[in-house]
Amino acid sequence: MGKYDRINIYKRFAVMGGTFDPIHYGHLVTAEAVRDNFKLQKVLFMPTKNPPHKMHRLTTDSYHRYLMTVLATITNPYFEVSRLEIEREGITYTVDTIRELRQIHGEDAEIFFITGADAILEILTWHNVDELLEMCEFVAATRPGFYDNDMNKKLEEIKSKYNKEIHRIEVPSLAISSTDIRNRIKNNKTIRYLLPESVEYYIRKYNLYIE
Ligand code: NAP
Repeated sequence: MGKYDRINIYKRFAVMGGTFDPIHYGHLVTAEAVRDNFKLQKVLFMPTKNPPHKMHRLTTDSYHRYLMTVLATITNPYFEVSRLEIEREGITYTVDTIRELRQIHGEDAEIFFITGADAILEILTWHNVDELLEMCEFVAATRPGFYDNDMNKKLEEIKSKYNKEIHRIEVPSLAISSTDIRNRIKNNKTIRYLLPESVEYYIRKYNLYIE
């Protein structure tokens, strides 16, 4: 069986990129809102490998983050979880992921890339940014009230340099954050209703985030 044999082909879909350490309702609500707004066939959640730009904090093993993402998305038929990045050898760049997805789904596929606005605002420093901005549409997700003058200036800079608009989406439930969930676990505080129950069970079962 070939590497891509089990993959369905889509012509209009989004990639939801993130560490998902752990995945929570903010991520799920964001993905569903973007799917609905842009009338997408699917959202492919793409947990990162242990990312190169995050050397200051050890991320939880990608095996756990992948499985928690599968558990969290299981009830939504429009959501899938991809192992492309966690299985790729070496450093992973988004541009490689989008290239690989184009190879699988065809050059005519319309691809959106959703992630946190703080990450997207750094896009000018990403690997092969010009190719990347040509290959897909970017959706910057934030909680409401995130954009100030500096943020707007950055978006203007991207637009004037690459003639490319970054779509924005404001999602109130993005007030939930993975960092806060990890801290709550460490401090013995409740995480109920911040993420799916199945993910909470998984975290407790494997004693994740306790130190
Ligand atoms: P991150 O550390 O996981 O998240 C940065 C911020 O965005 C956090 O506030 C996070 O909140 C939020 N966030 C993350 N994923 C989100 C999502 N899908 N929807 C809404 N909010 C989200 O993210 P990261 O590691 O910087 O990277 C995000 C994506 O950008 C990844 O797919 C990564 O591979 C890509 N990236 C690529 C390059 C490159 O190609 N050179 C460089 C940087 C990032 P939570 O903590 O609550 O999740």
